[in-house]
Amino acid sequence: MKEIRCGNCHRKLAEGEYTRLNIKCPRCGTMNQLRTESPEPERRRASQVQSSD
Ligand SMILES: [Zn+2]
Repeated sequence: MKEIRCGNCHRKLAEGEYTRLNIKCPRCGTMNQLRTESPEPERRRASQVQSSD
C-alpha cells in the first residue's frame, strides 16, 4: 500500500492503492490530484519469438 500525502503540507491523507485520485487536504485545503500510470514499473517484454520446430 502507498501512503498518500498532501503535496503542500505533507499531511498523511490516506493509504492504499490507486490509479487516479483526487483528494482535498483537510488541513490546508489543497486539492491533490494523484495518479499512477501503471502499477508496475514499465517493462516491455521482448516479444517472444515463436520458433517453429
Ligand atoms: Zn495539506
